[in-house]
Amino acid sequence: MREIKLETAYGTCAVHCGRGAFEKYVPEIAARQCFVVTDRDVFAYYRHLLWQTFGDDFSVYIMPAGESSKNFTTLKGILSEMLKSGMRRDCTVVAFGGGVVGDVAGLAASLYMRGSRFVQIPTTLLSQVDSCVGGKTSIDFGGIKNLVGTFYRPEAAIVDPRFLSTLTDRDIRCGLGEIIKCASLDAGIFKILEENPDRQDGDFWEDMAFRCLKLKADIVREDEFDLKGIRKALNTGHTTGHAFEEYYRKKTHGEYVLIGMYYEAYIAEKLNTGDKNYLERLKNLILKVIKIPSFADAEEAARLALSDKKNSDGNITLIAPAYEGECREIKLPFERYAQFLRECSDSLKGTRGA
Ligand code: NAD
Ligand code: ZN
Repeated sequence: MREIKLETAYGTCAVHCGRGAFEKYVPEIAARQCFVVTDRDVFAYYRHLLWQTFGDDFSVYIMPAGESSKNFTTLKGILSEMLKSGMRRDCTVVAFGGGVVGDVAGLAASLYMRGSRFVQIPTTLLSQVDSCVGGKTSIDFGGIKNLVGTFYRPEAAIVDPRFLSTLTDRDIRCGLGEIIKCASLDAGIFKILEENPDRQDGDFWEDMAFRCLKLKADIVREDEFDLKGIRKALNTGHTTGHAFEEYYRKKTHGEYVLIGMYYEAYIAEKLNTGDKNYLERLKNLILKVIKIPSFADAEEAARLALSDKKNSDGNITLIAPAYEGECREIKLPFERYAQFLRECSDSLKGTRGA
C-alpha cells in the first residue's frame, strides 16, 4: 500500500493506493453516516460488496452510466435523496464509480449544507490515475463540458486496482491515454511504459496510479486553483484532442488526447522546439494503445479549437510534448496551426499511424 498526503487550502487529502485499500479503509468510513453515489453499471457489478460494506439499507443514489448524467437533474436527484434520507451536515458523500460519478457526487458534496465530507473510491482506470485527486467537481451545462462546478477536494481517495478487472478494453484505453499524458511530463513513467509494453496486471496499474497521482498531486499542490499556469501542463495534447473529439465524437476523451499529443508533438518538432527522436518514441508508445488517424477534415476540426476559451485572441495555444519529461507552450495563428494539422495528417496517410 502506498500513501500520498496532499496538503491543500481545505486541509489534507489522504490517498491510499494499492490492492486491499478498499478492505482496509472503507469499513471505518462506512461506520459514519454515509451517502453513496454510484452508477447503474458499477452498482450491477459491485452491489454485493456495497451491501457487505455499508449495510443492507444504506443510502444510495444510482445514476444512469455515462457522461449524459453530468447534469442538473442528477445533481438535484442526489441532493433531494440526501435530504430525504436525513443526511446531516457532517455526513460523508462517497463517490463510488468513474470520473462522471466523482464529478457530480463531488459537486453535490460541496453544496449540501454548504459542504459535507467527501470521499472518492474511483473504479475506472481514468479516475484512478487522474480525476480522483483533481479537486474539481462539475456538471455539463448549455452544451459545454464541465461548465458548472466547484473546487472541492475529497478528504480521502481510496484507489484499489481490484475494480479494474471488470472494465471494458475501451475504458482501459481511455485510462492509458491519461497515463501516457503523465508520461509526457515524467520521464520515469515514460521509461516504465516503454519497458513494459504489454503489462496490464493489478500490480502494474497500482504502480501507475501511484506515480500518476503523485505527479498530479505535486502539480496541484503548486497551483491549486489553476491560477499560475502550472496546472496547464496537465492539458498537454488537449487543444487538438478536444477539437477532434468535438468534431468526430467516435473515440473516448483519453484516446483523442493521445492523438492530440502526437499532432502537437509533431508541431513542436517542426518548430524546432521539440526532439525528433522523442517524437518517434512517443508515437510508438501511443501506437500501443491506438492507431493515430489521418483526419480528412483536420482544418474543419481545428476551427473548433478556436472556440476554446484559451484561444479567444484568434491564436491557438498548445501545451505540446517536446522533450523527454517536458512540454512546451506554443501559440500559433490559426492558419499556421491548421496547416500543421493538415501536414501531420498527410504524413500519417498510409503509415502504421494511419
Ligand atoms: P465514466 O465515469 O463514465 O466511466 C466509464 C464507464 O465505465 C461507465 O459506463 C461506468 O459505468 C463504467 N464503470 C466504472 N467503473 C467500472 C468498473 N469497475 N467495472 C466496469 N465498469 C465500470 O468515465 P471515466 O472515464 O471514468 O470519467 C470521465 C469523466 O471524468 C468525464 O466526465 C471527465 O470530464 C471527468 N474528469 C474529471 C477530472 C477532474 O479533475 N475532476 C479529470 C479528468 C476527467
Ligand atoms: Zn483530459
